[in-house]
Amino acid sequence: MIAAHSPVPENTRQRAAELRRLLEYHSRRYYVMDDPEIADAEYDALFRELLLLEREHPELKTADSPTLRVGGAVLPALPAKAHSLRMYSLDNVFDLEEWRDFVKKMLRSAPGLRLEDLAFWMEPKMDGLAMELVYENGLLTTALTRGDGSTGEVVTENMRTVKNIPLRLAGAPERVPSLLEVRGEVVMTKKDFAALNARQEAAGTKSFANPRNAAAGSVRQLDSSVAAGRPLRFIAYGMGLAAWAGATPWKTQEDVMLGIRELGFTIAPRASLCSSALDVEEWRRRLSDQRDDFPFELDGAVAKVNDLDTQRELGFTARAPRFAVAFKFAAMQAETTLKDIVIQVGRTGVLTPVAVLEPVNVGGVVVQRATLHNEDEIKSKQILIGDSVIVQRAGDVIPELVGPVVEKRGGRERPFIFPERCPECGNHVHREEGEAAWRCVNRACPAVIRESIKHFVSKAGLDIQGVGGKLVERLIDRRLLKSPADLFRLRTDNLAALDRMGEKSAAKVVEAVDEAKKKAGLPRLLSALGIRHVGEQTAKALAQAFPSLDDLAAASAEDLRQVPDVGPEVAAAIKDFFAEDGNRRLLQDLKDQGLWPVLRPPVPAASAAGAEGGQISLLSLLPEAFGGPTPSSAPLAGKCLLFTGSLEKLSRGEARRLAEEAGADVVSSVSRKLDYLVVGDAPGAKLDKARDLGIAILSEKEFMEKIGRT
Ligand code: NAD
Repeated sequence: MIAAHSPVPENTRQRAAELRRLLEYHSRRYYVMDDPEIADAEYDALFRELLLLEREHPELKTADSPTLRVGGAVLPALPAKAHSLRMYSLDNVFDLEEWRDFVKKMLRSAPGLRLEDLAFWMEPKMDGLAMELVYENGLLTTALTRGDGSTGEVVTENMRTVKNIPLRLAGAPERVPSLLEVRGEVVMTKKDFAALNARQEAAGTKSFANPRNAAAGSVRQLDSSVAAGRPLRFIAYGMGLAAWAGATPWKTQEDVMLGIRELGFTIAPRASLCSSALDVEEWRRRLSDQRDDFPFELDGAVAKVNDLDTQRELGFTARAPRFAVAFKFAAMQAETTLKDIVIQVGRTGVLTPVAVLEPVNVGGVVVQRATLHNEDEIKSKQILIGDSVIVQRAGDVIPELVGPVVEKRGGRERPFIFPERCPECGNHVHREEGEAAWRCVNRACPAVIRESIKHFVSKAGLDIQGVGGKLVERLIDRRLLKSPADLFRLRTDNLAALDRMGEKSAAKVVEAVDEAKKKAGLPRLLSALGIRHVGEQTAKALAQAFPSLDDLAAASAEDLRQVPDVGPEVAAAIKDFFAEDGNRRLLQDLKDQGLWPVLRPPVPAASAAGAEGGQISLLSLLPEAFGGPTPSSAPLAGKCLLFTGSLEKLSRGEARRLAEEAGADVVSSVSRKLDYLVVGDAPGAKLDKARDLGIAILSEKEFMEKIGRT
């Protein structure tokens, strides 16, 4: 108690803020872009660190902390809809002690509850994408992703193509509920995943990082024929709302799951009842032993209190149920030999050492390579080439080298000498003081060019559909690409001359490049250029302040530092980028090719902003020197706004865009910072919270009036 009143040390406060920023960034890559940069175990470690800091110092908690939210967001390109009951995440426990603490906490939260009364419905924890399927009078009417928990993306047409989903509930009419929301995980088997990636690679398109990514990317497609071609399955694990003509026949989780199975759904293999908390650990151990034989990726077991009344009594925290928990597997490890260490050169010229391993099976995945991050990591782990090493995979497929088995050394191992020259171009490499990375400083280095073009076409760049790393490499080999600007010179006839590329596929590539060019706004182009330290967030902030790349190039370091997120290092990196001749030539070339998004003045038509309306919204921030309107000219300039419930006239994506065009900052959770909550149908808990905080509530009509669109 005393600790809670003592002031929070400044470095703890800073660390908490840093953790929140990091978690936000990685959540976005994971949930929105389906393109994670770090391993799940690494993300979980950051998450737990923040959780512990917030537990120790509750005053560090913010209303929008990742520890209080269901991760995920709603892609603006897909229509959004509110869930009738919120979809939660799950808390994790990692060992027996944590599991026992979880049970104790449950008993404390429900005073009448006794340990001996508790039974648990056990299931594998599948690693896919959470989904809710709504059946009205027995017919599938809507499929919604979990999204941010309150609102999901409508993906009904895509889910209709998943073969094990019943379009009509099975069973005698009197046993079929009039309304049923079935919740479950969309997954891809390990085998189907490997085959899909092989096909993607053969076609020269992007391969997926893991089955979860592949499933998520397939479901959130705008074109349902793409989803139809993907081997997806739906494994039910629970329900949302259910209504029967008579009394509800389900009293336990077991009743729900067996009932759902009778209605035509697949439930998880091995799902069964554990009659006590003690049996749960043994159940998880057995599942862990069987996980290699399991068709899907698993990362643990899920234990749910069986009795539905007890579930209701225990209820939920802001993020997860109190009656269920994911009991994660320990990371999987295996021993193998480190055959060599090779250097990979990235788009910023960074030299990354990669361990080349004797192939080894780690939890069902054959691992041949693992990143070693940098020279210091090799030194601190004291790794020698030829060592026996321990390799670890935790939660996903990004493997890590834990360290050498020193006692197995035979005397023939040798240290790795970090190269003094770039292995791709032979230029000198340079390590700046205070930095862990060695860099090739040659901007014309073939590896830098190759990786820059790959970045340019990737989701973090122009997101050119169907143009992946493999195709970029083939085009470079054929000398069809020397810079990103060459993409816009590709023609069907020279593409069709590539191996394994028919005329149809070639036409698709040209079309995709053209499409990407048309819809690229300034933030996207800026992020695609891969300027050091300028990721998507900073690109957005810059585009808010500068109407075009010409203006950005002309900005002084002082001007740049006026932009939120831009400190001296970022400003210097931007200045360096524009000062370099090669980059200037590239920009001129992009301009000549017609890729030069410029802020246009706001016009009444909603469509005027193009696909990335962000630029116009940011007019409100433009310094007057740029001739933009003053901040007061945007009706919602400086206001913080949130939508909840389903809107009648606008899709969630349109609403967000209009709000941003009107200068508002659209946020995802209710806090004191919020100025307006715009409420649609079935608004959920956000409305109550906003009322408690005295925040102004607007209807959709009032919102439209405020932005002058009635
Ligand atoms: P989660 O995956 O840890 O658990 C909740 C989800 O589990 C549910 O929404 C449901 O979809 C799923 N689930 C699977 N089997 C289930 C079952 N039998 N019963 C009930 N639910 C079941 O939670 P989350 O919030 O979706 O994601 C958090 C996880 O995502 C973290 O563990 C983290 O490692 C990972 N993540 C990774 C990154 C990264 O950058 N690598 C970023 C963000 C999140």
